[in-house]
Amino acid sequence: MRILVTGGAGFIGSHLIDRLMVEGHQVICLDNFYTGHKRNILKWLNHPYFDLIRHDITEPIRLEVDQIYHLACPASPVHYQYNPVKTIKTNVMGTLNMLGLAKRVKARFLLASTSEVYGDPEVHPQSEEYRGNVNPIGIRSCYDEGKRVAETLAFDYHRQNDVQIRVARIFNTYGPRMLENDGRVVSNFVVQALRGIPLTVYGDGSQTRSFCYVSDLVEGLMRLMNSDHLGPVNLGNPEEYTILQLAQTVQQMINPDLEIQFKPLPQDDPRRRRPDITRAREWLGWQPTLPLKEGLRETIEDFRARLSNPETSLLEPVAPPVADR
Ligand code: NAD
Ligand code: UDP
Ligand code: UDP
Repeated sequence: MRILVTGGAGFIGSHLIDRLMVEGHQVICLDNFYTGHKRNILKWLNHPYFDLIRHDITEPIRLEVDQIYHLACPASPVHYQYNPVKTIKTNVMGTLNMLGLAKRVKARFLLASTSEVYGDPEVHPQSEEYRGNVNPIGIRSCYDEGKRVAETLAFDYHRQNDVQIRVARIFNTYGPRMLENDGRVVSNFVVQALRGIPLTVYGDGSQTRSFCYVSDLVEGLMRLMNSDHLGPVNLGNPEEYTILQLAQTVQQMINPDLEIQFKPLPQDDPRRRRPDITRAREWLGWQPTLPLKEGLRETIEDFRARLSNPETSLLEPVAPPVADR
């Protein structure tokens, strides 16, 4: 099949491309390199079945494909809040363009949505029926309201234009290739621990998250794309940890003498989050397989190798074009 992956040079997108290429598909990676990097897809650059297009999805583009995995959007709060107007344009105009493309070429379209659509949830764990508790005017809104509109667009293109859609609500995912300065909690703790500096826990660390290893997540995305279910489907690991527990786990795995430093909790930071994955189990026969410690071991090894090599230790993400800020 000819498969388009938007955001394919990013963290999850590049792992997905690895799987699709190994399965023998023709893959087009579309990315503006805002938080993605060429090194993530370097091994495919000369492959005859692989194309890389540097393009910003807020602008239209015409391509011929059978499936679209739509992942383009910065996912870390630090990066999506850096240029919030751009983030919402990417979610709304970018998703509109990709749905317009899917409609024209009759491609199947999978949206990478997020557990953020549940906001600061009053229901625990979160099932797909829960409609969420989202602040429409907060600093996370460009992302979570943006993704809610993206889901609406997907369902409207389905109802109005018969576009085949799939909607995945992805919960916190981690693994090799996250940027060193990604700003999300797993990469922050691992980088801090490897550099021997204090781990920064925001708030008192009692807020919870559930962490899914990237290969498990990619398996879930591919199963959803090739299933008969539109979704939305939660994809995540139901093992829930407090952020302090995560800090202590990383501390024990890398250096038990490291200090844990408490910093202010960011505005609108969700108190707790855990996916109800009954739907994914029943519809897709999917559940995560890798426990946190094993996933962390893989992630730590990847960061260790990158941090010790000045050529692959990228400290700054590529900034968006100045005119767009
Ligand atoms: P990432 O930041 O590593 O990847 C996003 C990619 O999209 C990057 O390569 C970036 O350069 C590209 N991009 C951003 N804006 C673009 C634009 N306007 N045009 C073209 N390309 C653009 O993030 P990730 O963790 O790999 O997340 C991928 C997708 O999964 C995102 O849509 C994110 O919202 C979703 N998601 C991720 C998580 C997670 O925990 N990692 C959780 C929920 C949802
Ligand atoms: N679009 C695109 N590539 C395509 C087809 C459409 O980028 O191959 C864009 C198109 O420019 C438009 C959006 O997708 O901005 C929505 O397209 P649709 O055909 O649904 O709406 P219309 O063009 O009629 O407004
Ligand atoms: N967090 C933290 N220290 C960090 C980065 C994040 O304590 O260095 C906390 C953050 O406040 C949140 C949780 O870890 O409660 C997960 O944050 P992340 O940015 O990874 O994802 P999200 O909040 O989008 O789930």
